[in-house]
Order: sequence, then structure tokens, then C-alpha cells
Amino acid sequence: MRNKLKKIFTVLLCILTAAVFVAFLFIKEERKNPVDERKNVTTVAEQDAEKDEDTEKDKEQDKTAEKLLETSINYQIVYNMEITSAEMAAAAIREEGQRQRSGYDNPSVKKLELQMEEEFGIFAVNLGEISEETAYAIYEAFRYMYDRYPCLYGSLTNLTLGNMGNRTGGTVALTDRTFFIVNGEYGQYPFVEKYRIVLNARIFLNDEELTKVCASQGKHGYWSQGANVSSVIVHELGHQLQNVIVQKKYGLECPYYITEENGDAFCLYDMDRLKRTDNVTEEIMQKAYRRWQTDYGNQGTYEDFAAGISLYALKDEKESTYSASETFAEALADIYLNGENASDGAKAIEEVIEEYLQ
Ligand SMILES: [Zn+2]
Repeated sequence: MRNKLKKIFTVLLCILTAAVFVAFLFIKEERKNPVDERKNVTTVAEQDAEKDEDTEKDKEQDKTAEKLLETSINYQIVYNMEITSAEMAAAAIREEGQRQRSGYDNPSVKKLELQMEEEFGIFAVNLGEISEETAYAIYEAFRYMYDRYPCLYGSLTNLTLGNMGNRTGGTVALTDRTFFIVNGEYGQYPFVEKYRIVLNARIFLNDEELTKVCASQGKHGYWSQGANVSSVIVHELGHQLQNVIVQKKYGLECPYYITEENGDAFCLYDMDRLKRTDNVTEEIMQKAYRRWQTDYGNQGTYEDFAAGISLYALKDEKESTYSASETFAEALADIYLNGENASDGAKAIEEVIEEYLQ
């Protein structure tokens, strides 16, 4: 009996040892393969490019580059700071921008940051550790859009480089509105908002990668043909132009300092700009679609109209949904890149935008 127990115990011990050994091998294999993790945060187009070109050497280089792809810029929400005027709100945003700027040393780009703050009425421009070449490509897009749409002046509070981490996947840049100064509960007056364009540090600090992403997205038709850094920024400024149009519609003045007086207008604006509604933009698209048929003599569905601009204009790849907002922004990128040769859809959208800005 005792011998039988001993045998069973020995067999169990062997199985356990084997299991530990197999587990150890698995862990070792995982560690050897950190590239998979990185692929989770690349876009579909990037992955395509990587499939063709990945060699061990590339992977090594990627790993070294990755360490550098972070910015020192780190924005945070401020709680319980007493703000009693729009001037104070603007000063707080400016001060935070200066504080962020002291975290990096990039003299030639700093000159351009200050110039952009002045020229475009942006409270804080923080391009961080970005290269001079990329900084000028960004500037070019701003100059183009602000010349075309002077109403953009002073509407953006921040232009910044940011660490987006893994959460935002393959996002290259984004335009958003975010709380800056919160007193008591969220939404309790007064509070301060930021309207920002954020550039993903992981991509914008790697000029080679940035060029590769633009070329690849353009080639696949996901973005307009010939897409480049400037057209990406034009696209983002398109979203900011939407903000301006919707703020105008609801009579929202001084959109960054929200009090009892402009609180209702802010809520109406905010409701409209929630991703799933976008009423004003939707209305612009419907008008442009009719114009695409009547004035430009096209026949086809709404999908044909949007897809003529770019695939991104038709469908958000990440969310698999149609977004009027992306069609709007892509139309402006198409006009920027192709001028007279832009798609009829983009031209029709541009004309309708003009009407809304009258
Ligand atoms: Zn967009």
C-alpha cells in the first residue's frame, strides 16, 4: 500500500516538474517576442508595410527608436483653482504651456512655437522635441487653413505633442475638447476648457515613420492621394473648423471659459459635437450631397459621394462606422492636396461650408 502511494506520488511529481518546465519555456518564448506588443499599436497600413520589410535588424532599430518616442510634455487637469474671468483662464493655459516648454530644449522649434502662438492666437503651442522640418510642415498647414478660414483665429487653445500610449491605437493626431480647470464637481461653473490638436509623439518624433505612415495611407486610398504631414494637420484643423461652425450656430462665445452666462450655449454645442450626433455636420453633408448631384451632375448613392473623397471619408477603419465628421475633415485635406483636381464631393462640401460661415 505504502509502495503504491509512493509510486503515485513520484508520478505526480514528474507531471508537476514537466508542467513547470513547459510553463518556463512559454514565458521565455513570450519575452523573446516583444514585437507583437508593438504591432498592437500600429495601424493597418503600417502593418502592411512591416510585413514586407521586417528583418531582425529593423526590429532592433525599432526597439532603439521606440525608447526615444516619448515627449516630456504631460498635461493634466487642474482641480480647484479659482478663476474669475476669461483673461485668467487664458493666462492659466498660457502658463501651463510655458511650464511644459521648460521641460524640453529645442531652440529653433521654440522660435516657431512662439510665432504660431502669436500668428494664430493659440494660447500654448508645445511641439516639444519635434524636428524642425516636421514643425515647418505643421506650420504650413496652419498658415493655409487660417488664410482660408480666418474664423479659426483664436479658436484653438493648444497645439501639442502628446504621449498617447496604447489606448489610442494607430492614431496619428487628434482634435479634441477637454476639461482643464475643474472646480468642485465636473460641470460646476465656472470651468475652463481646452480645444486642442494633439500629435502622437510615437509617430511625430520619428520622421521616417511619419513619412511612411502618410505615404502608405495615401497609397491605399484610406487618406487622400499624396497625403503628407501638412495634409494630416489640415484634416485636424477641419475638425476645429467644425467646432467653430457649431459654436457659432449656438452663439457660444468664449468657449474656453464656461460660466452661468454661456453654460447653456456650451451644452448645446457639446451635444451637437458628440461623436454619434454631429447634427450640423450631418446637415452640411446632406446639402453637399445634393449639390454633388445637381451642380456637379453626378449620379450615385451617398456612399459614392463620400468614397470619392477618400476611404476614411466613407468609413472609420477602427470603428467600422460612417462619420460625417471624418468626411468633412477629409474633404478639406483633399482640397489642400489636389486643388482644382480635388473630388467633386470635396468641392461641394467646401462650398456648403462657405455658406455656413457667411
Ligand atoms: Zn479625423
